Amino acid sequence: MKLLIKNATIVDPACDVYAELDMAIEDGTISHIGAHIKEEAETVIDAKGKVLMPGLTDMHVHLREPGREDKETVATGTVAAIKGGVTALLAMPNTEPAIDTKEHVQLLKGIIGRSASAHVYMAGALTKGRQGKELADFAAMQEEGIIALTDDGSSVDDEGLMRSALRLARERGLLVICHCEEKTLANSGVVNLGLISTKLGLRGIPCEAEYKRVARDILLAEEAGCRIHIAHVSCEKSLEIIAKAKKRGVQVTAETAPHYFTLTEDAVSGYDTNKKMNPPLRSAQDKEAICQALRDGTIDVIASDHAPHTESEKEVEFDFAEFGVVGLETLLAVSITELLHTKVLSLPGLVRKLSCNPSAILGLCKASLKKGCQAELIIVDLHKEWQVTKRSLVSKSKNSAFLGRRLQGVVEYVILGDRVVHQARH
Ligand SMILES: [Zn+2]
Ligand SMILES: [Zn+2]
Repeated sequence: MKLLIKNATIVDPACDVYAELDMAIEDGTISHIGAHIKEEAETVIDAKGKVLMPGLTDMHVHLREPGREDKETVATGTVAAIKGGVTALLAMPNTEPAIDTKEHVQLLKGIIGRSASAHVYMAGALTKGRQGKELADFAAMQEEGIIALTDDGSSVDDEGLMRSALRLARERGLLVICHCEEKTLANSGVVNLGLISTKLGLRGIPCEAEYKRVARDILLAEEAGCRIHIAHVSCEKSLEIIAKAKKRGVQVTAETAPHYFTLTEDAVSGYDTNKKMNPPLRSAQDKEAICQALRDGTIDVIASDHAPHTESEKEVEFDFAEFGVVGLETLLAVSITELLHTKVLSLPGLVRKLSCNPSAILGLCKASLKKGCQAELIIVDLHKEWQVTKRSLVSKSKNSAFLGRRLQGVVEYVILGDRVVHQARH
Protein backbone atom coordinates (compact mmCIF):
# COMPACT_ATOMS: atom_id res chain seq x y z
CA MET A 1 0.00 0.00 0.00
CA LYS A 2 1.53 3.26 -1.11
CA LEU A 3 0.43 6.84 -0.53
CA LEU A 4 1.91 9.89 -2.22
CA ILE A 5 1.42 13.46 -1.00
CA LYS A 6 2.38 16.06 -3.59
CA ASN A 7 3.43 19.71 -3.22
CA ALA A 8 2.83 20.03 0.52
CA THR A 9 4.47 22.67 2.67
CA ILE A 10 6.18 20.23 5.01
CA VAL A 11 6.83 21.58 8.50
CA ASP A 12 8.97 19.31 10.67
CA PRO A 13 10.81 21.29 13.35
CA ALA A 14 12.45 18.08 14.65
CA CYS A 15 14.39 17.79 11.37
CA ASP A 16 14.50 21.50 10.62
CA VAL A 17 12.41 21.06 7.46
CA TYR A 18 10.13 23.85 6.23
CA ALA A 19 9.73 23.59 2.47
CA GLU A 20 7.40 22.60 -0.34
CA LEU A 21 8.08 18.92 -0.98
CA ASP A 22 6.50 15.57 -1.80
CA MET A 23 6.22 12.65 0.60
CA ALA A 24 5.79 8.95 -0.08
CA ILE A 25 4.39 6.59 2.57
CA GLU A 26 4.83 2.86 2.09
CA ASP A 27 3.05 0.34 4.31
CA GLY A 28 2.54 3.04 6.93
CA THR A 29 6.15 4.21 7.01
CA ILE A 30 7.53 7.45 5.57
CA SER A 31 9.70 6.13 2.75
CA HIS A 32 10.77 9.20 0.82
CA ILE A 33 10.70 13.00 1.15
CA GLY A 34 11.89 15.10 -1.73
CA ALA A 35 11.11 17.42 -4.58
CA HIS A 36 8.99 15.97 -7.41
CA ILE A 37 8.88 12.33 -6.34
CA LYS A 38 8.02 10.29 -9.41
CA GLU A 39 6.68 7.06 -8.00
CA GLU A 40 3.46 5.21 -8.61
CA ALA A 41 1.02 5.09 -5.68
CA GLU A 42 -2.48 3.76 -4.98
CA THR A 43 -3.50 7.06 -3.38
CA VAL A 44 -2.23 10.48 -4.45
CA ILE A 45 -3.11 13.64 -2.49
CA ASP A 46 -2.35 17.04 -4.00
CA ALA A 47 -1.57 19.25 -1.00
CA LYS A 48 -0.55 22.38 -2.91
CA GLY A 49 -0.93 25.41 -0.65
CA LYS A 50 -1.48 23.23 2.39
CA VAL A 51 0.71 22.35 5.32
CA LEU A 52 1.81 18.85 6.22
CA MET A 53 2.85 18.54 9.86
CA PRO A 54 3.15 15.88 12.57
CA GLY A 55 -0.15 15.02 14.26
CA LEU A 56 -0.86 16.99 17.43
CA THR A 57 -0.15 15.50 20.87
CA ASP A 58 -2.68 16.92 23.34
CA MET A 59 -1.30 16.16 26.79
CA HIS A 60 -4.37 17.31 28.74
CA VAL A 61 -7.66 15.60 27.87
CA HIS A 62 -10.60 14.43 29.98
CA LEU A 63 -12.23 11.52 28.14
CA ARG A 64 -14.60 10.86 31.10
CA GLU A 65 -14.62 7.09 30.62
CA PRO A 66 -15.07 5.08 32.77
CA GLY A 67 -17.98 6.53 34.72
CA ARG A 68 -19.29 9.59 32.92
CA GLU A 69 -20.10 8.25 29.49
CA ASP A 70 -22.96 10.77 29.31
CA LYS A 71 -20.32 13.51 28.90
CA GLU A 72 -17.81 11.74 26.62
CA THR A 73 -16.35 8.31 25.92
CA VAL A 74 -13.01 7.11 24.64
CA ALA A 75 -14.74 6.44 21.32
CA THR A 76 -16.43 9.86 20.92
CA GLY A 77 -13.50 11.79 22.38
CA THR A 78 -10.97 10.23 20.04
CA VAL A 79 -13.20 10.87 17.01
CA ALA A 80 -13.29 14.54 18.08
CA ALA A 81 -9.52 14.44 18.56
CA ILE A 82 -8.85 13.12 15.06
CA LYS A 83 -11.16 15.74 13.55
CA GLY A 84 -9.11 18.38 15.36
CA GLY A 85 -5.80 16.95 14.13
CA VAL A 86 -4.94 15.40 17.50
CA THR A 87 -3.47 11.97 16.79
CA ALA A 88 -2.16 11.32 20.32
CA LEU A 89 -3.47 12.39 23.70
CA LEU A 90 -2.95 11.89 27.40
CA ALA A 91 -6.14 10.88 29.23
CA MET A 92 -6.53 12.45 32.67
CA PRO A 93 -7.30 10.02 35.51
CA ASN A 94 -10.15 11.89 37.23
CA THR A 95 -12.73 9.42 36.00
CA GLU A 96 -15.22 7.45 38.12
CA PRO A 97 -13.53 5.41 39.45
CA ALA A 98 -10.28 7.35 39.30
CA ILE A 99 -7.39 5.64 37.51
CA ASP A 100 -5.53 4.95 40.75
CA THR A 101 -4.93 1.18 40.86
CA LYS A 102 -3.56 -1.53 38.62
CA GLU A 103 -7.11 -2.81 38.04
CA HIS A 104 -8.44 0.58 37.00
CA VAL A 105 -5.55 1.08 34.58
CA GLN A 106 -6.31 -2.35 33.11
CA LEU A 107 -9.98 -1.38 32.80
CA LEU A 108 -9.14 1.82 30.90
CA LYS A 109 -6.55 0.03 28.77
CA GLY A 110 -9.23 -2.44 27.70
CA ILE A 111 -11.62 0.35 26.72
CA ILE A 112 -8.88 2.12 24.75
CA GLY A 113 -7.97 -1.10 22.96
CA ARG A 114 -11.57 -1.64 21.93
CA SER A 115 -12.71 1.84 21.03
CA ALA A 116 -9.98 4.48 20.55
CA SER A 117 -9.41 5.87 17.08
CA ALA A 118 -6.40 8.00 18.13
CA HIS A 119 -3.37 7.01 20.23
CA VAL A 120 -4.46 7.33 23.86
CA TYR A 121 -1.82 7.39 26.62
CA MET A 122 -2.79 7.11 30.26
CA ALA A 123 -1.98 9.13 33.36
CA GLY A 124 -2.49 7.61 36.80
CA ALA A 125 -3.66 9.42 39.92
CA LEU A 126 -1.07 10.58 42.44
CA THR A 127 -3.26 9.68 45.41
CA LYS A 128 -5.89 7.03 46.05
CA GLY A 129 -9.28 8.24 44.86
CA ARG A 130 -7.59 11.62 44.22
CA GLN A 131 -8.28 12.31 47.88
CA GLY A 132 -4.84 13.71 48.64
CA LYS A 133 -4.47 11.40 51.64
CA GLU A 134 -2.52 8.33 50.56
CA LEU A 135 -0.28 7.71 47.55
CA ALA A 136 -1.49 5.43 44.79
CA ASP A 137 0.68 2.44 43.80
CA PHE A 138 2.89 4.05 41.14
CA ALA A 139 4.84 0.88 40.33
CA ALA A 140 1.76 -1.27 39.70
CA MET A 141 0.15 1.42 37.51
CA GLN A 142 3.38 1.94 35.57
CA GLU A 143 3.60 -1.80 34.85
CA GLU A 144 0.19 -1.52 33.23
CA GLY A 145 1.27 1.39 31.08
CA ILE A 146 0.71 4.78 32.69
CA ILE A 147 3.28 7.37 31.61
CA ALA A 148 2.51 10.27 33.98
CA LEU A 149 0.97 11.00 37.36
CA THR A 150 -1.53 13.70 38.29
CA ASP A 151 -4.47 14.43 40.58
CA ASP A 152 -5.70 16.94 37.97
CA GLY A 153 -8.91 18.58 39.10
CA SER A 154 -7.24 19.18 42.42
CA SER A 155 -3.82 19.75 43.89
CA VAL A 156 -2.19 17.64 46.62
CA ASP A 157 -2.45 19.98 49.62
CA ASP A 158 -0.36 17.86 52.00
CA GLU A 159 3.19 19.05 51.42
CA GLY A 160 4.82 15.98 52.97
CA LEU A 161 2.75 13.68 50.79
CA MET A 162 3.59 15.67 47.66
CA ARG A 163 7.27 15.48 48.59
CA SER A 164 7.10 11.67 48.85
CA ALA A 165 5.16 11.49 45.60
CA LEU A 166 7.82 13.46 43.75
CA ARG A 167 10.63 11.31 45.18
CA LEU A 168 8.91 8.10 44.16
CA ALA A 169 8.02 9.49 40.74
CA ARG A 170 11.65 10.39 40.15
CA GLU A 171 12.78 6.88 41.06
CA ARG A 172 10.38 5.49 38.49
CA GLY A 173 11.14 8.12 35.86
CA LEU A 174 7.50 9.24 35.82
CA LEU A 175 6.44 12.76 34.94
CA VAL A 176 4.27 14.54 37.53
CA ILE A 177 1.67 16.94 36.14
CA CYS A 178 0.56 19.60 38.62
CA HIS A 179 -2.88 21.19 38.74
CA CYS A 180 -1.82 24.19 40.81
CA GLU A 181 -4.61 25.47 43.00
CA GLU A 182 -4.55 26.27 46.67
CA LYS A 183 -8.13 25.59 47.71
CA THR A 184 -8.15 27.87 50.76
CA LEU A 185 -7.06 30.81 48.59
CA ALA A 186 -9.40 29.88 45.73
CA ASN A 187 -12.15 30.49 48.28
CA SER A 188 -14.84 28.57 46.35
CA GLY A 189 -14.62 31.24 43.66
CA VAL A 190 -16.10 30.89 40.18
CA VAL A 191 -14.45 33.74 38.19
CA ASN A 192 -11.24 35.77 38.34
CA LEU A 193 -11.02 37.96 41.42
CA GLY A 194 -11.11 41.58 40.29
CA LEU A 195 -13.40 44.07 38.62
CA ILE A 196 -15.40 41.32 36.96
CA SER A 197 -16.19 39.40 40.16
CA THR A 198 -17.33 42.65 41.81
CA LYS A 199 -19.40 43.72 38.82
CA LEU A 200 -21.13 40.37 38.45
CA GLY A 201 -21.46 39.74 42.17
CA LEU A 202 -19.67 36.39 41.89
CA ARG A 203 -16.99 34.96 44.18
CA GLY A 204 -13.51 35.55 42.82
CA ILE A 205 -10.46 33.29 42.53
CA PRO A 206 -7.22 35.30 42.97
CA CYS A 207 -4.12 34.57 40.87
CA GLU A 208 -2.46 33.84 44.21
CA ALA A 209 -4.37 30.56 44.45
CA GLU A 210 -2.48 29.43 41.35
CA TYR A 211 0.98 30.96 41.63
CA LYS A 212 1.55 30.12 45.30
CA ARG A 213 0.98 26.47 44.47
CA VAL A 214 3.17 26.75 41.36
CA ALA A 215 5.95 28.10 43.59
CA ARG A 216 5.52 25.32 46.17
CA ASP A 217 5.44 22.51 43.63
CA ILE A 218 8.50 23.84 41.82
CA LEU A 219 10.46 24.00 45.09
CA LEU A 220 9.42 20.48 46.04
CA ALA A 221 10.32 19.16 42.58
CA GLU A 222 13.66 20.90 42.75
CA GLU A 223 14.46 19.25 46.10
CA ALA A 224 13.34 15.85 44.85
CA GLY A 225 15.11 16.20 41.48
CA CYS A 226 11.84 15.23 39.83
CA ARG A 227 10.51 16.41 36.47
CA ILE A 228 7.23 18.31 36.75
CA HIS A 229 4.85 19.82 34.26
CA ILE A 230 2.60 22.70 35.28
CA ALA A 231 -0.86 22.33 33.74
CA HIS A 232 -3.06 25.17 32.42
CA VAL A 233 -1.05 28.25 33.43
CA SER A 234 -3.37 31.26 33.41
CA CYS A 235 -1.57 34.21 34.99
CA GLU A 236 1.51 36.38 34.74
CA LYS A 237 2.81 35.71 38.26
CA SER A 238 2.96 31.95 37.66
CA LEU A 239 4.98 32.60 34.51
CA GLU A 240 7.52 34.71 36.37
CA ILE A 241 8.05 31.87 38.85
CA ILE A 242 8.35 29.25 36.10
CA ALA A 243 10.78 31.38 34.07
CA LYS A 244 13.04 31.83 37.11
CA ALA A 245 12.97 28.12 37.90
CA LYS A 246 13.86 27.23 34.33
CA LYS A 247 16.76 29.65 34.47
CA ARG A 248 18.23 27.94 37.52
CA GLY A 249 17.88 24.52 35.92
CA VAL A 250 14.77 23.06 37.54
CA GLN A 251 13.25 20.36 35.32
CA VAL A 252 9.94 22.14 34.88
CA THR A 253 7.80 22.52 31.78
CA ALA A 254 4.56 24.44 31.43
CA GLU A 255 1.36 24.39 29.46
CA THR A 256 -1.46 26.77 28.67
CA ALA A 257 -4.78 26.30 26.87
CA PRO A 258 -6.24 28.28 23.93
CA HIS A 259 -8.84 30.09 26.05
CA TYR A 260 -6.11 31.73 28.14
CA PHE A 261 -4.41 33.37 25.14
CA THR A 262 -7.69 34.24 23.39
CA LEU A 263 -10.22 35.34 26.02
CA THR A 264 -10.18 37.49 29.13
CA GLU A 265 -12.43 37.71 32.17
CA ASP A 266 -14.60 40.16 30.18
CA ALA A 267 -15.97 37.16 28.25
CA VAL A 268 -17.82 36.13 31.42
CA SER A 269 -19.80 39.38 31.64
CA GLY A 270 -22.95 37.78 30.15
CA TYR A 271 -22.80 34.99 32.77
CA ASP A 272 -22.01 32.52 29.96
CA THR A 273 -21.23 29.25 31.75
CA ASN A 274 -19.20 28.09 28.73
CA LYS A 275 -16.67 30.70 29.85
CA LYS A 276 -16.39 29.10 33.29
CA MET A 277 -13.23 27.09 33.75
CA ASN A 278 -10.61 26.39 36.38
CA PRO A 279 -8.33 28.32 36.54
CA PRO A 280 -10.62 31.15 35.42
CA LEU A 281 -10.15 33.52 32.48
CA ARG A 282 -7.88 36.30 33.72
CA SER A 283 -7.10 39.94 32.91
CA ALA A 284 -5.91 41.38 29.60
CA GLN A 285 -2.47 41.79 31.17
CA ASP A 286 -2.34 38.08 32.02
CA LYS A 287 -3.42 37.17 28.50
CA GLU A 288 -0.63 39.33 27.07
CA ALA A 289 1.87 37.67 29.44
CA ILE A 290 0.74 34.22 28.21
CA CYS A 291 1.43 35.28 24.60
CA GLN A 292 4.83 36.60 25.59
CA ALA A 293 5.63 33.34 27.44
CA LEU A 294 4.66 31.34 24.36
CA ARG A 295 7.08 33.47 22.36
CA ASP A 296 10.00 33.29 24.78
CA GLY A 297 9.63 29.59 25.62
CA THR A 298 8.49 29.87 29.23
CA ILE A 299 5.39 27.99 28.04
CA ASP A 300 6.36 24.79 26.23
CA VAL A 301 2.98 23.33 25.38
CA ILE A 302 -0.50 24.26 24.22
CA ALA A 303 -3.03 21.64 25.38
CA SER A 304 -6.81 21.73 25.19
CA ASP A 305 -7.79 20.72 28.76
CA HIS A 306 -10.77 19.22 26.93
CA ALA A 307 -13.39 19.00 29.70
CA PRO A 308 -16.76 17.87 28.37
CA HIS A 309 -19.92 18.49 30.41
CA THR A 310 -23.59 17.82 29.60
CA GLU A 311 -26.02 20.65 28.85
CA SER A 312 -27.83 20.09 32.13
CA GLU A 313 -24.55 20.65 34.01
CA LYS A 314 -23.87 23.90 32.15
CA GLU A 315 -27.37 25.35 31.69
CA VAL A 316 -27.73 26.33 35.34
CA GLU A 317 -26.87 29.39 37.42
CA PHE A 318 -23.24 30.43 37.02
CA ASP A 319 -22.37 29.45 40.60
CA PHE A 320 -23.60 25.90 40.11
CA ALA A 321 -22.29 25.21 36.60
CA GLU A 322 -19.40 22.78 36.20
CA PHE A 323 -15.93 24.14 35.44
CA GLY A 324 -14.42 23.39 32.04
CA VAL A 325 -14.84 23.53 28.28
CA VAL A 326 -14.38 21.16 25.35
CA GLY A 327 -11.35 21.92 23.21
CA LEU A 328 -10.08 19.03 21.08
CA GLU A 329 -11.73 20.29 17.90
CA THR A 330 -10.71 23.94 18.32
CA LEU A 331 -7.17 23.52 19.72
CA LEU A 332 -5.44 23.84 16.35
CA ALA A 333 -7.75 26.35 14.68
CA VAL A 334 -7.74 28.75 17.64
CA SER A 335 -3.95 28.49 17.80
CA ILE A 336 -3.66 29.19 14.06
CA THR A 337 -6.09 32.11 14.24
CA GLU A 338 -4.84 33.70 17.45
CA LEU A 339 -1.11 32.92 17.41
CA LEU A 340 0.02 32.16 13.86
CA HIS A 341 -1.98 34.68 11.86
CA THR A 342 -1.22 37.35 14.46
CA LYS A 343 2.49 36.48 14.31
CA VAL A 344 2.85 35.60 18.00
CA LEU A 345 4.39 32.31 16.81
CA SER A 346 5.93 31.14 13.55
CA LEU A 347 4.59 27.99 11.93
CA PRO A 348 7.48 25.80 13.17
CA GLY A 349 7.06 27.47 16.57
CA LEU A 350 3.38 26.53 16.64
CA VAL A 351 4.12 22.92 15.65
CA ARG A 352 6.63 22.69 18.50
CA LYS A 353 4.05 23.77 21.11
CA LEU A 354 1.31 21.49 19.78
CA SER A 355 3.29 18.48 18.73
CA CYS A 356 7.06 18.21 19.29
CA ASN A 357 7.26 19.53 22.86
CA PRO A 358 4.33 17.61 24.40
CA SER A 359 5.56 14.45 22.67
CA ALA A 360 9.09 14.94 24.06
CA ILE A 361 7.85 15.79 27.56
CA LEU A 362 5.81 12.58 27.65
CA GLY A 363 8.77 10.60 26.32
CA LEU A 364 6.93 9.48 23.19
CA CYS A 365 8.97 8.88 20.06
CA LYS A 366 6.67 10.89 17.85
CA ALA A 367 6.25 14.20 16.14
CA SER A 368 8.84 13.65 13.47
CA LEU A 369 8.41 13.27 9.74
CA LYS A 370 11.80 11.62 9.21
CA LYS A 371 12.22 8.87 6.65
CA GLY A 372 11.65 5.54 8.38
CA CYS A 373 9.15 6.92 10.92
CA GLN A 374 5.63 5.56 11.23
CA ALA A 375 3.31 8.06 9.51
CA GLU A 376 1.28 10.07 12.04
CA LEU A 377 0.57 13.32 10.29
CA ILE A 378 -2.01 15.88 9.28
CA ILE A 379 -2.57 18.09 6.25
CA VAL A 380 -3.98 21.48 7.16
CA ASP A 381 -5.48 24.38 5.23
CA LEU A 382 -4.29 27.33 7.34
CA HIS A 383 -6.65 29.86 5.81
CA LYS A 384 -9.93 28.06 5.32
CA GLU A 385 -12.61 29.55 7.58
CA TRP A 386 -15.28 27.80 9.60
CA GLN A 387 -17.64 28.72 12.37
CA VAL A 388 -17.76 26.91 15.69
CA THR A 389 -21.34 25.80 16.31
CA LYS A 390 -22.82 23.01 18.39
CA ARG A 391 -23.59 21.21 15.15
CA SER A 392 -20.00 21.51 13.95
CA LEU A 393 -18.70 19.67 17.03
CA VAL A 394 -18.62 15.88 17.04
CA SER A 395 -17.67 15.64 20.70
CA LYS A 396 -20.52 14.29 22.84
CA SER A 397 -20.59 17.56 24.78
CA LYS A 398 -20.88 21.00 23.19
CA ASN A 399 -19.60 23.26 26.00
CA SER A 400 -17.13 25.20 23.88
CA ALA A 401 -15.95 28.65 24.92
CA PHE A 402 -15.70 29.49 21.21
CA LEU A 403 -19.29 28.85 20.07
CA GLY A 404 -20.21 31.36 17.39
CA ARG A 405 -16.63 32.32 16.65
CA ARG A 406 -15.18 32.17 13.12
CA LEU A 407 -11.80 30.46 13.00
CA GLN A 408 -9.20 29.84 10.34
CA GLY A 409 -7.59 26.44 9.91
CA VAL A 410 -9.17 23.19 8.79
CA VAL A 411 -7.65 19.72 9.15
CA GLU A 412 -8.05 18.33 5.65
CA TYR A 413 -6.48 14.90 6.15
CA VAL A 414 -5.27 12.81 9.05
CA ILE A 415 -2.98 9.91 8.16
CA LEU A 416 -2.13 7.19 10.67
CA GLY A 417 0.18 4.52 9.29
CA ASP A 418 -1.12 3.48 5.89
CA ARG A 419 -4.65 4.76 6.53
CA VAL A 420 -6.31 8.08 5.79
CA VAL A 421 -8.42 8.16 8.98
CA HIS A 422 -10.02 11.53 8.39
CA GLN A 423 -10.80 13.63 5.35
CA ALA A 424 -12.62 16.96 5.67
CA ARG A 425 -15.89 17.29 3.81
CA HIS A 426 -15.98 19.90 1.08
ZN1 LIG B 1 -6.63 21.00 36.14
ZN1 LIG C 1 -7.87 19.23 33.41
